[in-house]
Amino acid sequence: MPAPKAPGPRALRSEFLESQKKHPRTFSFEFFPPKTPGGMEKLRATWRQLAQLKPRFFSCTYGAGGSTRERTLETVLEIQAAGHRAAPHISCIGATRADVAATLELYKSKRIDHIVALRGDLPSGAASAGELRFASELVAFIRERTGDHFHVEVACYPEFHPQARSPHEDLRNFKRKVDAGADAAITQYFYNIDSYLRFVDDCEALGIDLPIVPGIMPIGNFSQLARFSDACGAEIPRWLRLKMQSLGDDVASIRSLGLDVVTDLCDRLLSAGAPGLHFYTMNQAGLTSTIWQRLGI
Ligand code: FAD
Repeated sequence: MPAPKAPGPRALRSEFLESQKKHPRTFSFEFFPPKTPGGMEKLRATWRQLAQLKPRFFSCTYGAGGSTRERTLETVLEIQAAGHRAAPHISCIGATRADVAATLELYKSKRIDHIVALRGDLPSGAASAGELRFASELVAFIRERTGDHFHVEVACYPEFHPQARSPHEDLRNFKRKVDAGADAAITQYFYNIDSYLRFVDDCEALGIDLPIVPGIMPIGNFSQLARFSDACGAEIPRWLRLKMQSLGDDVASIRSLGLDVVTDLCDRLLSAGAPGLHFYTMNQAGLTSTIWQRLGI
């Protein structure tokens, strides 16, 4: 009698993201609000260049504790006034319910109907975490106060959030945001496509059925990226880290390798069925538009 077969590795439910393919593809570009008039001028040139690529929307980040509320709004309104869709981010850490309600009213009064809702991170030295402890509570509050007015995007983490007690709990916490009324999710950036494919697969198993758009970080300045990745829990694969480190200060070669790696990642994601891409532009148009052109979107 032949020996019973050892169980093989668990296959992905759907190698080709059937659950994601049904969502229309959404391409979007993220900025941060500049601190100076010079930075604002540069960003204006950036978004005007990127607007030619006709993204579905632009988004602009929001400093923890509302520290950039005015500049975030100013950036969004300027882009919106030029006829493009623009979504401000909003975070709840360090804020009261009244603060959040006031920001939502302000956004509504400016005819904004699309937001990215986050918990945020407590700045060092901040006294209180605020009244809404997690992004799921923020999403529930947004729905309670404003019904269906906003299209609400939330964050998710294919390589798991650094503060999560376990991968399973992080997934369940993501589901809380979905159940609270999120419409779509944008991932933290990653360079390992398997983390995204497995994450989407796990989400599907939990009954999460909303577009999970990969967040894409083009690689320009590697040492800055490495520092940032250590903090936010995004893994840079060993082969990529070593190759980048071996290039030292050779900015042109770092850019060139980064463009090859990130374009290939985007290409494979779209071929696998990812419902679009969200680019963390770092307020620069060059790398994002080169990737876009190479993809032939
Ligand atoms: P949450 O979903 O609340 O999760 C935070 C942590 O708490 C996770 O570890 C989660 O597992 C855990 N958790 C959640 N719910 C519970 C619960 N009920 N019980 C126990 N644990 C729980 N930051 C900014 O300050 N401004 C921005 O504009 C901004 N934009 C971003 C855009 C994107 C697309 C992404 C991916 C991140 C962005 N961030 C921004 C960073 C984000 O604020 C941080 O990653 C933050 O640490 C977590 O935010 P969150 O909304 O994912 O939090």
